[in-house]
Amino acid sequence: MQTERKIWLAVLGFVFFWSTPVSAQEEQWYKGNTHTHTNYSDGNEYPRRVVRWYLDHNYNFLVLTDHNKLTATRYLDSDPNDDFILIPGEEVTNSFQKTPAHVCGLGMKSETRPQEKGSLVETLQSHIDGIRQAGGIAQINHPNWKWAFDHRTLGALQNYRLFEVYNAGADCNNFGAGGRPGMEEIWDRVLSGGLSIFGVASDDTHEYLAEFLPMQPGPGRGWVMVRARELSAAAIVAAMDRGDFYASTGVVLKDVRITPQEYALAIEPLGDTAYTTQFIGAEGKVLKQDFSLTPSYRLQGTERYVRARVESSNRELAWTQPVFPGGSRASSR
Ligand SMILES: [Zn+2]
Ligand SMILES: [Zn+2]
Repeated sequence: MQTERKIWLAVLGFVFFWSTPVSAQEEQWYKGNTHTHTNYSDGNEYPRRVVRWYLDHNYNFLVLTDHNKLTATRYLDSDPNDDFILIPGEEVTNSFQKTPAHVCGLGMKSETRPQEKGSLVETLQSHIDGIRQAGGIAQINHPNWKWAFDHRTLGALQNYRLFEVYNAGADCNNFGAGGRPGMEEIWDRVLSGGLSIFGVASDDTHEYLAEFLPMQPGPGRGWVMVRARELSAAAIVAAMDRGDFYASTGVVLKDVRITPQEYALAIEPLGDTAYTTQFIGAEGKVLKQDFSLTPSYRLQGTERYVRARVESSNRELAWTQPVFPGGSRASSR
C-alpha cells in the first residue's frame, strides 16, 4: 500500500473512531495527572500521601514520575474498586551542556536511565527510545523551562506524541512574552511543519506541604481528561497515544466530537463564567471564534490541521487535539 494512502486511511480510522456513537457505559472521561514527584526524588511528600491527595480530589489516575526512578506503585494501588489507578512512570532527566532534557515515560514496565549524547536532539531522542523500550510512551516536558528548546527540536524528534503545552511549575514560561514564543506558538509551528503532536497539561508537582499559593508547585492546577472505554493503565495510555484527550487548567468539556464535516465541543458551564473558543489552523491562524457553550467549526477539508482552545472569563484554559482534515498528517512514529 502506498504511504499516502496508508496515512489517509489512518486519518479516516481516527475520524471514524471519534465520530462513532457509543454509550456512556462504553466510553468515559477520566481525569489524571501525568507528571508528579514524590520524596523518592525531589518532591517533599511520601508517595502514599501524594497518591492520597489526588484520590481525595477526584482524579481517576496518577502517573508518579520521579527523576530517573520508577517509583513502585503496586503497594500504593490496593483498592480495585476506588475508581482510581496508578500508572507506572518516570521522568527521564538529564541535561545536554546545561540545557535540561526531561521526558516523562507513561506506562513504563521497567526503569530506564538517561544518557547524554552528542546533541540535545540526540539526548532527548535517547530518552524517548529508552522509554519505548521500557514499554512506555514519551511526554516531552516543559520545553520553555530555562527556554531550553523550541519547535525545531520538537520537530526533529521521532516516536513520540505528547508534549507539555502547559506545566504548572511557576517558571515554565508556558505563555510567550518578551519576544519569546509561548508553548502554543511552538505547538503551531510543529503542527504547521506536518508533525502531529498532542498537548498535555500537568502539575509537575513537587510541593505538598506549603500553603496553597500561586507560586508553589502544588497539586491540582494542570491535568488531562482522557476518553477511554475502561480505567486501566493500558486503556489510558493508548487513548493518550491516539490523542483522545484534552488538556485543562480548569475548563471542563462535556464532549469533543470530530467528524469529517465538523469539529465540535460542548462546554460544561460553571456559574456565570463566559467562554471564548478559538479554532486554530496552520501557522496559528484563528479560523473561527465562538462564544457559545457548544462551539463548532465546519471543516473545509483543506485545512492543514485544526485544533481548539477554550478560554474562560476566569482565565482557565482547555486545549483539544489537532486533526488533519487534508490528510497531510505525518506520523511521528
Ligand atoms: Zn522536569
Ligand atoms: Zn518534573
